[in-house]
Amino acid sequence: MKKLGLHWQILIGMIAGVVIGYAMLQISGGSQFVKDWIKPFGTIFIRLLKLIAIPLIIASLIKGIADLRDISKLSSMGLKTIGLYLATTVIAITIGLTLVNIVDPGNKISQENRTELMAQFEGDANKKIDVAASTKGQGPLQALVDMVPDNFIGAATSNRNMLQVIFFVVFFGIGIVLIDEKKSAPVKAFFDGVNEVILKMIDLIMLASPIGVFALLASLVVESPSADVFIALLWYALTVVTGLAIMLLVVYPLMVKLIAKKDAGFFLKGISPAQLLAFSTSSSAATLPVTMERVEEHLGVDSEVTSFVLPIGATINMDGTSLYQAVAAVFIAGALGVDLTLTDQLTIVLTAGLASIGSAAVPGAGMVMLVIVLGSIGVPEAGLALIFAVDRPLDMCRTMVNVTGDAAVSMAVAKWQGLLGEPKEKKWDDHYTA
Ligand code: ASP
Repeated sequence: MKKLGLHWQILIGMIAGVVIGYAMLQISGGSQFVKDWIKPFGTIFIRLLKLIAIPLIIASLIKGIADLRDISKLSSMGLKTIGLYLATTVIAITIGLTLVNIVDPGNKISQENRTELMAQFEGDANKKIDVAASTKGQGPLQALVDMVPDNFIGAATSNRNMLQVIFFVVFFGIGIVLIDEKKSAPVKAFFDGVNEVILKMIDLIMLASPIGVFALLASLVVESPSADVFIALLWYALTVVTGLAIMLLVVYPLMVKLIAKKDAGFFLKGISPAQLLAFSTSSSAATLPVTMERVEEHLGVDSEVTSFVLPIGATINMDGTSLYQAVAAVFIAGALGVDLTLTDQLTIVLTAGLASIGSAAVPGAGMVMLVIVLGSIGVPEAGLALIFAVDRPLDMCRTMVNVTGDAAVSMAVAKWQGLLGEPKEKKWDDHYTA
């Protein structure tokens, strides 16, 4: 009998998680049961994925760069990648701004709901504002300074320092290419081997993914706020989701079709397990190992491209987040009665772009950086309380778009570099020894 595809297994896990979560809500003590006995499995699953992220980046990026024959290839790939990342982010923000100006959800929220939301979520919003405050006082080049670690071991101890790790590893890889081959061969062979081991570990973790997403969704359902607050924010949430859907179903498939010459169906089917995982975990960083596996094995992108484009994309390319930040900023301004000029809207394009680059690839990070967008257009940051209730489901959706955007860009870059082949659809080990 043919085994059920992984994306189906994950989908079944998700649906079962939601159903059981709701059922448990109806039973007294049910939600505590979920928190005590089901949620830990979700937490373990996310931990396993995060655990593998830094070793994966180190091994695969060193392997990818060391395989390059000359360094100029790296810079041409780098320029294409950054160019496409910026272009997709600007497209996303433009779509978000257009939709939010048409729908104008800020005017659709009643005075009563507004007061209630502000009162209910004020405390939570303040926490995010405090976190953002530490970022705000820094100079314009701080992001660049932050990219350069002063201690490699220090950088590798936190998943939040992914860019620092990437910096070191790219530098190390360049060193390997530039030294005598006799000396570099054993180093390359070592990281080749490490890479294979890590890919095998990802395979093993993914065997548990249906159970992991089941546990994650069941605990999300029992911990989410009541349905009433969702209804008050329906127009806002719908605007964000519509924008994200346009990115997912129109912009990326079009990009893949026009540049990589592959069909939408092929692309979406290949990337779907990573999308489902992004939705369940709300973290691009946690999803990265799976995104890399899918893009390489199922979309036919060479590891030289994936090992470079995807870890960087997971950290800086967040189209879904930038779109959401643009919509949320205009929504909050509207709800609080702040009029936005054309200059304000252009400021949003710039600050939402930068804020999405600065957002960490973890749950809720986009909302922290939204504080900076609000500040730049003079909207009171306390307005964050308005959107708190629906942030988690929107985070799940925007993370899905963030991950899909990285995958689409890596296909385009691979095509331009002549490194887009046919999907392997084999096990990692077959592929790597082939
Ligand atoms: N959770 C998102 C991500 O990991 C970031 C965000 O909060 O928008 O991609």
